[in-house]
Amino acid sequence: MKMDQPIVTADDYVASLRDRQLEVYLFGERIEEPVDHPMIRPSVNAVAATYRLATEDPSLGSAESSLIGNTVNRFLHITESVDDVVQQNRMQRRLGQLTGTCFQRCVGMDAINAIFAITFDCDQKHGTAYHQRFRDFLQVVQQRNLVIGGAMTDVKGDRSKAPAEQDDPDLFVRVVDRRADGVVIRGAKAHQTGAINSHWILVMPTIRLTDRDRDYAIVCAIPVDADGITFIYGRQSCDTRSMEEGDLDSGNAGFSGQEAMLILDDVFVPWPNVFLDGEFEFAAPLVERFTAYHRRSYVCKSGVGDVLIGAAALAADYNGVESASHVRDKLVEMSHLNETIYGTGIAASHESVRTEAGNYVNDALLANVCKLNVTRFPYEIGRLAQDLAGGLVATLPSEADFRAETTGPLLQKYLAGRAGVPTENRLRAARLIENMTLGRNAVGYLTESLHGAGSPQAQIVQIRRQSDLEGKKALARKLAGIPDE
Ligand code: SF4
Ligand code: FE
Repeated sequence: MKMDQPIVTADDYVASLRDRQLEVYLFGERIEEPVDHPMIRPSVNAVAATYRLATEDPSLGSAESSLIGNTVNRFLHITESVDDVVQQNRMQRRLGQLTGTCFQRCVGMDAINAIFAITFDCDQKHGTAYHQRFRDFLQVVQQRNLVIGGAMTDVKGDRSKAPAEQDDPDLFVRVVDRRADGVVIRGAKAHQTGAINSHWILVMPTIRLTDRDRDYAIVCAIPVDADGITFIYGRQSCDTRSMEEGDLDSGNAGFSGQEAMLILDDVFVPWPNVFLDGEFEFAAPLVERFTAYHRRSYVCKSGVGDVLIGAAALAADYNGVESASHVRDKLVEMSHLNETIYGTGIAASHESVRTEAGNYVNDALLANVCKLNVTRFPYEIGRLAQDLAGGLVATLPSEADFRAETTGPLLQKYLAGRAGVPTENRLRAARLIENMTLGRNAVGYLTESLHGAGSPQAQIVQIRRQSDLEGKKALARKLAGIPDE
């Protein structure tokens, strides 16, 4: 990393991303400076919002770290109390409201808290020294106020086979060489949220491992500009609208999420940045701990949902139907679903407990319930938003037509809504709903809600495991007067 000065402001953050010579590919070409690419920039803005929040609303966006004895960005904070875990959710909802998209930093936040605890547990069992190494790494990252991306999801190949059983051994990230000074890793991670907007990436296994998979049991930190890393940018629906004239058709011109494929072609990692190497039995606890945190981090979608509910209410206002009873009912239904997401997530955080390592972790069952809600409710909220907004969401002519000499006045006249409402406002509300339910931020609001932090089946398995059916049967037997079987 070139940068020595700590990042303070959102502008410092954007400046810190420049001149890194990353291997980023988009549309088959290397992007010289991702920060200035019109399709990428909205995703940078979304991360920059996390820095702005830290200075403008420090009680939400920052925290007191005893690790460095100073204030740090909350996304870099190791939770020291139940309240710290709860505040993460409040911050996530607020950032969802401010950006209307995925602000990309929760993976790193949840990864550092999971690795903090699991390295401690591993050291207890094996006498390794990972936990102190990880603390040392965290201190530097906190002091410089950097963005950490978490890289968990391997590309996985044949889903019925374990990592070591794959025809191509590189389909899960693995250690290909161990040297006196460190390890060399190879493989690829898919759907990497905010990877190019990060400074460091924490590589973690994605699946339970056995002793045959020892080389896959690797947790380490790599700088984003390390030799051997290639990023291939993920497309989003309607993404090239960001490259057109004007800002109306984008719907949300300021902000977007970011996912990229990350390819690690023999990347060297020095030992001080290695936090697990070969202790395969800690892969499953790490994944489980990370997903416990991350599945309630998805309350971010309730913040995004607030924006969508607002856009639907605006569309109804502009159409002059805001007081129709079915419109009110639909808005209430949207809020009910949205608050159910938030309610389960923040309940999980309120039920946090202290780990052996000393940080706090939320309730896993409630977190899985939260995430399972997230796989369903945004789709229904999106359906109701489209219902309220009308077909215009999908058939609106372009901004260029709206501005053109011949068609502009025609559209002004025939797309008018309630008297006194500028036609353009009506179009902007419709475009925002399109953006969030069909366009580039539908990636975050819908599909990421479905598959991010694990697809629905992963939550169903966890809920089944943790819902103590035998205990419940015992309760029923007792009250029904059925003797123990
Ligand atoms: Fe954070 Fe939500 Fe984006 Fe995940 S989807 S990184 S939880 S904002
Ligand atoms: Fe995600």
